[in-house]
Formats: sequence, structure tokens, C-alpha cells
Amino acid sequence: MNSETITLERRVLAKNEDVADHNREWLGAQGIVAVNLMSSPGAGKTTLLERTIGDLAGSRAVAVIEGDQETTLDADRIKKAGCEVVQVNTGAGCHLDAEMMHSALTSLSPAPGSLILVENVGNLVCPALFDLGERSKVVIISVTEGTDKPLKYPYMFAAADLVIINKIDLLPYVDFDVERCEGYARSVNPKVRVLTVSATTGEGMSDWYEWVAEQY
Ligand code: MG
Repeated sequence: MNSETITLERRVLAKNEDVADHNREWLGAQGIVAVNLMSSPGAGKTTLLERTIGDLAGSRAVAVIEGDQETTLDADRIKKAGCEVVQVNTGAGCHLDAEMMHSALTSLSPAPGSLILVENVGNLVCPALFDLGERSKVVIISVTEGTDKPLKYPYMFAAADLVIINKIDLLPYVDFDVERCEGYARSVNPKVRVLTVSATTGEGMSDWYEWVAEQY
């Protein structure tokens, strides 16, 4: 990278920071909690959202911001689950940014006190760099992935407030070491919380809901 590239990158991130601060201020004033969910493709973000929407219905207003490069497939699933949703297509982009978050919030106009669940574009690299103005960042890893993911993608795991290990119903069939993965996550982020869940069977999901309630 030459110095021009670095300067431009810094400028892009600084502008993102300003919009993120604006989002954070607005969300805070409304008593709205936004949680940014990040993972590789296929870790189960949308399934976790579907179950969360169903389980929290009646106790809290929930809205979803769906980030994908293309399609409205995930937004359609969320709509079917009975939730307000905005799809953001990033095209060639590999992450959501604060400006996209701002437009999504404008079109959702969530009620005060709502919970906003943001499903970021599926990858463990770029989403870690871009602050959206969210309250918390969650990384989801599933047991069908490698135990060593936290070591391979340390920036993502270092940025996380919570790590969710999903698909634990599949543990008997795969070679995944939960304890070792937790250890790796803590080696890059000593204070990070780790929860184990199955969004399919519902096991462990009450711990996730407790964590969400603690964000208010
Ligand atoms: Mg998805």
C-alpha cells in the first residue's frame, strides 16, 4: 500500500466514525439497542434471528437490518417471521457501514426502546473495521467451522462483545472442540463472553435473551 492508499483509507474510516457517532447518539436518545451480528456465511445468523424474533414477540419491539451483497432472500425469511425488516444490498461491498445503517434506521423508524438486530454481510474480515454506531458486536461461529477461527480472524474476535457458538446440536457429528475455541477467543479478547446455543433446537437461547436484556 502506498501513502495515498493509506490516507484515503483513513479518510473513509474517519467519515464512517462521524456517522457512527451520530447513529449512536440517536439510538441512545431513543433508548434503542442495536446489536451487530457478524459471522462467516452459513453460521446460522438468519436462523438465530428467526427464533429470536419468535421468542421475543410480545416482550419487546424488534426490527432487523439485513446486509447481503445481493438478493432479499434473508429479508423475506425475516418478514415471514413477522418482523419489520430492511434489506441493504452492498453489491461488491463486503460489509455494512454507518451510512447504510443510518438510511436503514430512517426507513425503519423504530419505536423507542426497540431492539435492532443487524445481520452484517457474511465474512469475518471487513465488518470488524466499520463501526455502525451499534451498542454491541456479536460474532457467531458454528461447530461445523474450524475450532481455530478466533486465531485466524483475530480482529473480528477482538472487536466482539459476545461470541455465540451455534449449532451445538451437531456436536456429536463434527470435530469441534468448544473449550478450545473458547480459549482461543479469550486469547485475543480476554473479557469476551461466550455462549453456546442451537438456534435450531432452542438450546441455550435463553442465555442469549438474558444477554440482550443486559444491553439496555
Ligand atoms: Mg443470513
